[in-house]
Amino acid sequence: MAEEAHLQVIDKVVQETLDRANVSETDLSAVAVTIGPGLSLCLRVGVRKARKTAGSFNLPIIGVHHMEAHALVARLIERNLQFPFMALLISGGHNLLVLARDLGQYVQLGTTIDDAIGEAYDKTAKWLGLDMRRSGGPAIEELAHEGDAESIKFSIPMKQHKDCNFSYAGLKTQVRLAIESKHINAEIPISCASRHDRSSRADIAASFQRVAVLHLEERCERAIEWALNIEPSIKHLVVAGGVASNLYVRARLDQVVKKNNLQLVCPPPNLCTDNGVMVAWTGIEHLRMGRFDPPPPADEPEDLVYDLRPRWPLGEEYAEGRSEAR
Ligand code: ATP
Ligand code: FE
Repeated sequence: MAEEAHLQVIDKVVQETLDRANVSETDLSAVAVTIGPGLSLCLRVGVRKARKTAGSFNLPIIGVHHMEAHALVARLIERNLQFPFMALLISGGHNLLVLARDLGQYVQLGTTIDDAIGEAYDKTAKWLGLDMRRSGGPAIEELAHEGDAESIKFSIPMKQHKDCNFSYAGLKTQVRLAIESKHINAEIPISCASRHDRSSRADIAASFQRVAVLHLEERCERAIEWALNIEPSIKHLVVAGGVASNLYVRARLDQVVKKNNLQLVCPPPNLCTDNGVMVAWTGIEHLRMGRFDPPPPADEPEDLVYDLRPRWPLGEEYAEGRSEAR
């Protein structure tokens, strides 16, 4: 179904993008396309379209890492952002803390051992009967304003683990139990809930958000301390990915960063959630460094086996880093 949905819109999306930008394919200097990580059936739809366009117009092609794109778009909006910098990438499928040493050179300081924070936001929103037409994150952020964040004492994940990894599965379970104990029925949309019921849901949303973000704060503190030891020239922490559009997340991480005399760089919300600009920008960065593939042949067969990378870690895990970070 996902592949079908991609196939149905790909031509229209590309054409509309060119029209709105008032350019044609002949104005392009290259084509950048996400080659991973992600569902290979969907990646293939994009790669096929990109290669067809590049082949027809004799353009170089650049295969982009989706998470590198989430991080690098920060350099489009903050021109002073130089390597090395740190990045916290928080989205629906990833929870990464990386040291960006250079273009294409990342050291992974931490990742999730189970779920990403965006997944926890989405599940919590679903269980609370929130409007999921956008995604769960913005709905929780909004409802949390009405709630008391101290009302439910969820425990902070991985307190006893002195590394930079994350875990959100346990917090998800705590939230589900709290929802059950308050007899909240997700079948009743929040818009139809009684005042008392609405306020219980808001308390859970606020308490969940507080602890979910506290976990990010703690891990960032630890990672910054460690990273500054080996790269004292670091000046920035980039926070990007869909969850970085959350204002509470931004405000709390800004505190952490200021305490360490660093600067927070957060792309605007429309460049935090998935977007094409970040892929195009990452393409530009690679193109400038001479990292691209030559134009594919114009008559390339469509059933070719492409270079797709459904599982593609962003850089090496830094083994000593984890012990040093203790
Ligand atoms: P990945 O980048 O890991 O492959 P993805 O591409 O599906 O995942 P993104 O578009 O980068 O995800 O981010 C979507 C996630 O961001 C969803 O889980 C969504 O709930 C979350 N999100 C979006 N806006 C907010 C917000 N304001 N507060 C919290 N979470 C948010
Ligand atoms: Fe994404």
